Amino acid sequence: MKNLFSLDGKIALVTGASRGIGWATARAMAEAGALVVLNGRDAATLEGRAGELAGEGHRCAVACFDVADSEAAVEGIESIVRQHGRLDVLVNNAGFVQRQALADYSIDDWKRIMDTNLTACFVLAREASRHMVAQGAGRIVNLTSIMGIAARPMVAGYVAAKGGVAALTRALAAELGADGITCNAIAPGYISTDMTAELAANSEFSAYIDGRAPLGRWGRPEEIGAVAVFLASDAASYITGQVITVDGGLTTTL
Ligand code: NDP
Repeated sequence: MKNLFSLDGKIALVTGASRGIGWATARAMAEAGALVVLNGRDAATLEGRAGELAGEGHRCAVACFDVADSEAAVEGIESIVRQHGRLDVLVNNAGFVQRQALADYSIDDWKRIMDTNLTACFVLAREASRHMVAQGAGRIVNLTSIMGIAARPMVAGYVAAKGGVAALTRALAAELGADGITCNAIAPGYISTDMTAELAANSEFSAYIDGRAPLGRWGRPEEIGAVAVFLASDAASYITGQVITVDGGLTTTL
């Protein structure tokens, strides 16, 4: 029987794949059969990760560039297609959060957070979609956040960027659907990664999440990777423009 969740023969780029959700997603996609291209800014770390995947018998490659550098992002997509002949899946995962009071939020801080979390998704999707349109098929998966749906203090730039990612997801779905390309987003809740290590170390906040989420715990990066595989696979062939919240139920309860 055909495995609807297989990514056999697909070329998948995962940005921010050196650790956390991106690494878990890259591993999950490799396990589903894709040749995964690992992106990040540190070549040595990426080579180490590629070595891990290759050691497990998976096919992978490295594309080291800063997603916030538009020229590097354009060249990054070109070089992947030159090397592998196509690009089937783009996962826009690279991102960062900056916790800072509104009064101290400089315009440079704002631009930095937009460049990586939002503008990079636009540039990479634009470039990837040129090839996907020619192929007549493609999958784009963006990482937004529950912060794109609801807000907390001290993260104004991040909240605005992630809300933008959700809106961009719908815009891409609307524009690219006729070319056989789907675009969806994942909105994780609180997932244990380097990004949230400081929050997790705060026992009061950590217990608050455990108490608030119906599933009673923080999420694991693999629990996001699994959803990314689903959205990239044939199993999700009629889903586009959606934001799939993966938060243990946190945002469904008061
Ligand atoms: P981590 O901080 O653990 O990892 C971030 C990854 O992004 C690293 O691989 C980092 O690699 C890479 N990265 C950061 N900036 C750039 C850049 N400019 N160019 C290329 N790569 C970059 O984050 P998470 O895994 O926690 O988060 C992944 C995504 O999920 C983000 O978009 C985040 O906003 C989102 N998210 C996370 C949540 C969570 O609870 N963890 C909740 C909701 C959303 P390197 O530094 O080596 O370049």
